Amino acid sequence: MPSSSRAAGAPGAPLSEFDLIRRFFTRPARKAVLGVGDDCALIEGRPGHHLAISTDMLVSGRHFFPDVAPRALGHKALAVNLSDLAAMGAEPRAFTLALALPEADPDWLGELAAGMLALADAHGCELIGGDTTRGPLTLSLTVLGDVPAGMALRRDAARPGDDIWISGTLGDARLALGDCRGEWLLPEPDFTQVRPRMDTPVPRVALGMALRGVAHAALDISDGLLGDLGHILERSQAGALLDVDALPRSAVLAEQPEARQRECTLAGGDDYELCFTAPAGAREEIAAIGARLGLPLTRVGNITPEPGLRLVDREGNPCTYGGSSFDHFASP
Ligand code: ADP
Ligand code: MG
Repeated sequence: MPSSSRAAGAPGAPLSEFDLIRRFFTRPARKAVLGVGDDCALIEGRPGHHLAISTDMLVSGRHFFPDVAPRALGHKALAVNLSDLAAMGAEPRAFTLALALPEADPDWLGELAAGMLALADAHGCELIGGDTTRGPLTLSLTVLGDVPAGMALRRDAARPGDDIWISGTLGDARLALGDCRGEWLLPEPDFTQVRPRMDTPVPRVALGMALRGVAHAALDISDGLLGDLGHILERSQAGALLDVDALPRSAVLAEQPEARQRECTLAGGDDYELCFTAPAGAREEIAAIGARLGLPLTRVGNITPEPGLRLVDREGNPCTYGGSSFDHFASP
C-alpha cells in the first residue's frame, strides 16, 4: 500500500500505521540506494567486504522495565545491535526496525525515535526499513555492517597463549539493575553514576574496527563474562585462565562487598564491553589503541590449550564462582 495515498491524521486523531512510519521513522535515504517506503530497501555491496548482519530483540518486562524512558530505550535497542557489529570488527552501515506497540502514542514514539536516530547518526548507520504492528511492546532490530573480507573478529579464532582482554569496566550495569530490582540499595550518587551503564550502553564500535588484524577472537559481553567467554572457548576449542581480581571495575563497584563485585564482574550482563584475545606480541599495539580511543583495555588472563575455564585470584590461588551468566531459558 503506497503510504503517499494516505492523508496524515488530524490532530488528536489516532495515528495510522503509515502516518506513524512516515512521521517517526522515515528520512531521506543518504547512503542507501533506496530506504523506507518500498517493499525492500536497497544498499550497495562494498567490494572486497563481507556484510555482517545481526538481529537483537528487546521485549518489555524481559529486557527493560515497561516504564523505561523511551529515549533511553531507543538508544539501547540500537546500541546492543551496534555492539554485535563492534564485536565482529564491522563498520555500521544500516539497520531495520521491527516494532510491536500496544498503542501509538506520538510523544512516546517521538522520544523513542530521537534516542535511536541520534545514536544511528553518531555511527552513520541509516534506518532503511522495518515493520510495525500492534502487540506487546517489542523492538527487534537488524543491523548491517561492512568488514573487509577475512578480517572479521570471530569467536572461533582464539589460540592457546593468547592474552584475554576486556575493554572499559565490567559490572556497573548489573550493579544498577540490582538496585532497581531491590536486591541491594545503592547510595543515590552511586546509583546515578552506574545507571547510564544499564540504560544507555556505549557500543565499542571504534575499538572493534581498530582491532581488525590485531585481535584474534572477540565478542561483546551481553550476558556476563563467564558465559560469554565460554562461547569463545567452545568455538575455539580451547580453555582459559582468568584472574578474577584483574577484572576492570568502576570506583563505585570497587567499594562494594567482594562477593557482589565478583557477581557483577563475572556474571553481570548488559555491559556491552568487548572481550577479545590477542597474541602477546600485540600488547604494545593494543595499549596504543586504548590510549588513542581513551578507553582502558585490561589484560585479565590467557587462553590455554587444555579445555575448561579456571579462575584464579590475584595471588594465583584457584577460586570458584557459583553464579552462572544469564540464559533466557535456564535462568529464572
Ligand atoms: P510491506 O507491507 O511491503 O512489508 P509495510 O507496509 O510493512 O511494507 O512497510 C512500508 C514501508 O515502511 C517499508 O519500506 C518498511 O520497510 C517501512 N517500515 C515499516 N515499519 C517501519 C519501522 N518501524 N521503521 C522503519 N521503517 C519501517
Ligand atoms: Mg511489512
